[in-house]
Parts: sequence; C-alpha cells; structure tokens
Amino acid sequence: MSQRILLLGAPGAGKGTQSGKLADKYGLEHVTTGDALRANKDMETDHGTPREYMEAGDLVPDPVVNEIVKAALEEADGYVLDGYPRNLSQAEYLDDITSLDTIAHLDVDEDVLLRRLTGRRVCEECGENYHTEFQPPAESGVCDRCGGALLQRDDDTEEVATDRLGVFRENTQPVIDYYREEGVLTDIDGEAPPDEVFDDIVDVIEATDWHPPAPENVGIPRHRAAGLGYCGLLSPEMKDNWLCHAAVTPLLGMRTRSDLCRLRPEFQHRTGVSACD
Ligand SMILES: [Zn+2]
Repeated sequence: MSQRILLLGAPGAGKGTQSGKLADKYGLEHVTTGDALRANKDMETDHGTPREYMEAGDLVPDPVVNEIVKAALEEADGYVLDGYPRNLSQAEYLDDITSLDTIAHLDVDEDVLLRRLTGRRVCEECGENYHTEFQPPAESGVCDRCGGALLQRDDDTEEVATDRLGVFRENTQPVIDYYREEGVLTDIDGEAPPDEVFDDIVDVIEATDWHPPAPENVGIPRHRAAGLGYCGLLSPEMKDNWLCHAAVTPLLGMRTRSDLCRLRPEFQHRTGVSACD
C-alpha cells in the first residue's frame, strides 16, 4: 500500500540514509526539498521560479518551496518526506495539503550530532568517505584505498556544524514539538546502530497500518456510527472501514473525527492494538 511517511531529525541524525532504505523497502518516492527544487527549477509559482532564487544565491522562500513540494508529493504514489517541513509555517502548509500515515523523529543528542558531523573525512585523491569515529581508516589520515590524504571538508567543521544545529534548533525543533503535542509523532532512538534504527521505524510504520475491528464485532448501531460522518483524513483503506473507526472513538476518549485520525498512529504505537481482537 502507498504510505506517506515523514522523517524528522537534526542534521547528522541519519534521516537521509534511513529515508532511502524505507523508500526501497516499500517502493516509495524519497522526496527531499533539495531534489524537488533541482527537478523543478523552472516551475512557475506565484512567486517566480526556484531558478531565479538559486541563481541569485538566495534562499528559496517558503511559498515557492511549498508549491514545489506539493507538486512532488502529488506526483508520488506514496513517499518518504525528508528535510521538509523545516519550520512551522511549512508544517502548517503540509497539514493543509496532505495527511501523513507516519511521523517519526530520529532523536539524537546534540553532542553526538556534533561528533557525527565533524568526524567526516574525505580522500582528496579518490573521494572515498571516512569517519574518524565510526568508519576510521586503518591508518589515521590516510586513505585505505589509494593512500591519499584525508581531509575535512569546510561543511564539516565544528563552526559550520554548530551553525546548522543552531538553525535546526530555532526553526525545526518547534515543528517536532508541534507534532509531539498533537500526539502524532513517534520518537525513535537515533543513537542506536543504523540497522536497529531502521527496524524501529519499520515497527512504527507497520503498527500504523492496522485494520479496525469488523463492524459485527463493534457493538454499536450502524446509524449511530453513520451520524459521525465520514472523515476526509482517512486513507482509502480506512474509508472502507470507517464505521469501525467511528466506533472506536469513545474508547480513545476523543471528541472529533480529526482527533481520531491525528491520534491514531500514536495510539497504535502506545497500545499495540492491531486488529479485530
Ligand atoms: Zn583515496
């Protein structure tokens, strides 16, 4: 089934790697802001094309980024979104244009992020990548493959890394806090080994992909459930079973249909309720 997954995390948290693996596993599009902008440089938006800003060396403004990401999401039959939304205004826009099945946050302490970001080294001869801590060469500062010197790129210095983390803390942390308060975000221990992190994300995705109880097992009159109406936020699979969803509302103690949809993944993850039991 087509999944709509949002992966959040600071620079160095491993979003890119994990998003790529998820996209492979589920046959989804890996949508990043950067790729979407590069692929749609000449798309006309109400605020001009991305190219105009990129060629001037300016940050592409939110309204343009929003339209480009919207187009990329509409094109994709299921996606892993990575690197968007970067701030609260983008998050509000995303809320308006889509409904997500899974929102996961790769949680990594800032000192670990800093170590990850500043430990990167690249061979000046052949371009091979290393990490002083996680993937060190046999001999410090020397490429295993060609014997070339290993250098730290300007982007990986402590100064640049600290800057990037500061921007993240200021702009994107509020997005994470917002989703967490809404009860729709699951925190993943991003400091675990990458394979474990991947398994944890998969668990969250698959806990979300649940099937509600069959109507005959629910025990409330159909007309009462019908009175709750159909919720536009439900996925097609859910629409077929919306009666059951409406029926579990009292169990969850929620007042509105959109509350139900918003809380579903978190509720699932917390309770492990999975099927018609
Ligand atoms: Zn080399």
